[in-house]
Amino acid sequence: MTVLSIQPSFRCNFKCPYCYLGSLRTDPQILDLALLEQRLQELTSNIYIECVDIFGGEIGLLPMNYLRNLINLLNKYLTQGQDINLTTNFSNIRILRLVKEFEDTCNVGLGLSYNFERQNFEDIDLYLRTGKDFPKRLCTLMVVLPSIIKYNIFALLNLCQAWYKNSGTEISFIRYFPSIYNNKDYEVNNQLYADYMKALLFTYKKANYSFPLNNLAQLANPGDPSLNSNIFIQPNGNYAWIQYDNNREYFKESNNFKDYQTAILKEQEQYQQHCILCPYYNRCLAEHLNFNSLKNTECCGLKGLLTWRDQGGLYGKDLCQNN
Ligand code: SF4
Ligand code: SF4
Repeated sequence: MTVLSIQPSFRCNFKCPYCYLGSLRTDPQILDLALLEQRLQELTSNIYIECVDIFGGEIGLLPMNYLRNLINLLNKYLTQGQDINLTTNFSNIRILRLVKEFEDTCNVGLGLSYNFERQNFEDIDLYLRTGKDFPKRLCTLMVVLPSIIKYNIFALLNLCQAWYKNSGTEISFIRYFPSIYNNKDYEVNNQLYADYMKALLFTYKKANYSFPLNNLAQLANPGDPSLNSNIFIQPNGNYAWIQYDNNREYFKESNNFKDYQTAILKEQEQYQQHCILCPYYNRCLAEHLNFNSLKNTECCGLKGLLTWRDQGGLYGKDLCQNN
């Protein structure tokens, strides 16, 4: 099962300092839908697409008819009613209407990316707390940056709870990864992220918050971290997958699906070599396998966080042991 991420365009009207696209945001290329159809034919005859994520860049900069055609095209190939998720920075509210328009005919949902470093974060907050007519499937995504980590956890969870109460939004906290396209580096490594998530998840449980926290579901049921589980389609129509230059992510691209399959086999060899003895082999929290990280105390698969889970950390067991 593979998650397909489609990036129809890298263009964005914002300049978030943490954006992994960095300099790619000025690339004017827009994905040709005829080429996308060829890719979908090839993909669906080779793999099962579990769901499709559409993001950019800012998809709200694309003509709404282009997005309509894109969703209709996906519907033609996602014959099992798989989820289609569109993620926006909320600068164009027509995206909300577009999602509502498709709700009765397909499994479409909206992702709202929120961060204190985003220029319109107060607008998103107001929308979630006081808006109406929300999409049936709504998720608010927050990249865990220093500004989030420094924020009081109770205040943050209260904010999420207030959003959920009015809008029904799910919440996902996303790990920050440096990329070769962005020169700004934040000191949020795997260890810091894992420590933060322990505090956040423990507080969520302990204080009985009720908003759907997707990280909790992921922790309970981690997935396949290998290249098998995700593939991108870029604005130029190429297939792409994530690779690392030291610890920085970049897209490896090809117009030939066989290159992706070869990359999967190569990664499988490395994966076995490095991780076969790990109790979380094939079911850890790595979005993408970064073999450079395995020598660190907290690897890309967040082994320490998974061990903490298994030792009852969510219920404060490790805290009791320390006392
Ligand atoms: S809104 Fe998203 S794509 Fe645009 S600059 Fe910010 S993080 Fe990057
Ligand atoms: S948790 Fe870490 S060591 Fe274990 S399989 Fe995942 S990446 Fe490998």
